[in-house]
Amino acid sequence: MHMPEIYDLHCHSTASDGALSPAELVHRAKEFGVTSLALTDHDTVAGLKEAQNTADLSAIRLIPGIELSTSWKNKCFHIVGLGINPAFPALAEATRNLQIMRFERAQKIADKLEKKGISGAMEAVNNAVGPEGMITRSHFADFLLAHCHVSTQQEAFDRYLGAGKPAYAPTLWAEMEQAIQWITESGGVAVLAHPLRYKLTGSWINRLLSAFKEVGGAGIEVVTGRYNKDEIHVVANYARRYDLAGSVGSDFHSPDLQWVELGRLAPLPENIKPIWELLHLPENL
Ligand code: AMP
Ligand code: MN
Ligand code: MN
Ligand code: MN
Repeated sequence: MHMPEIYDLHCHSTASDGALSPAELVHRAKEFGVTSLALTDHDTVAGLKEAQNTADLSAIRLIPGIELSTSWKNKCFHIVGLGINPAFPALAEATRNLQIMRFERAQKIADKLEKKGISGAMEAVNNAVGPEGMITRSHFADFLLAHCHVSTQQEAFDRYLGAGKPAYAPTLWAEMEQAIQWITESGGVAVLAHPLRYKLTGSWINRLLSAFKEVGGAGIEVVTGRYNKDEIHVVANYARRYDLAGSVGSDFHSPDLQWVELGRLAPLPENIKPIWELLHLPENL
């Protein structure tokens, strides 16, 4: 019998702000019927080796990926790289620099929290990620939650960590064009992640997508974990207008967030070119 392919091309492990180790994540993906999984941790490839080893033993296809934080016109956009070569020197160097940037940003966030009378944040997030890990604002949200300064992750962002809030530390990430270059030169394709999450007006989204396409962007996430039918329709229209391939990815972070699950995604609309046709996937599992 021919097994249907189930793609999930965006998720996170403990190498960044996911709750599951790369091995646990691959096992869970398999359990939920995923046949091709891309691990796309924030600004790091540290989880890929473990994920690949587990995938080899579990008969699931692992696509090496990353989710890069980038700047364009002083706004932050997430670019997912799929089919990258994690050992490509420029990409490896970029992730080392991003880890330092994230560490320095974390110190600023911790200082700002200290001014609000909340101490111990830096030590807590450092312990949470370990030496190879990437400190994200989610780690600060976990800390604030664990110490009862907030009662939900969302409240941590609304009161402290979100843009313009008291513990927000603005960061100048790599330029979008540069990030796309790292991805493509390492053999991957660049995908604009969750295009509706940036809350852009129509004219800004048009400017963004033409710039993205012009500097080598190949795809856009048409289906993500939380999009409904109308949203998928809107993004599918962008994909067609800018001749971008469509990607599907849950952006899974944790089994605790029950409304987002690995591989549980709407199908890509039929008139959209699938991003996996641009990837060099091994034929058989
Ligand atoms: P960072 O890349 O360090 O700025 O952290 C961003 C991460 O924090 C995202 O990848 C999400 O996982 C999480 N995040 C961002 N905004 C929110 C929010 N409003 N509520 C919950 N989690 C959020
Ligand atoms: Mn995240
Ligand atoms: Mn993202
Ligand atoms: Mn993500």
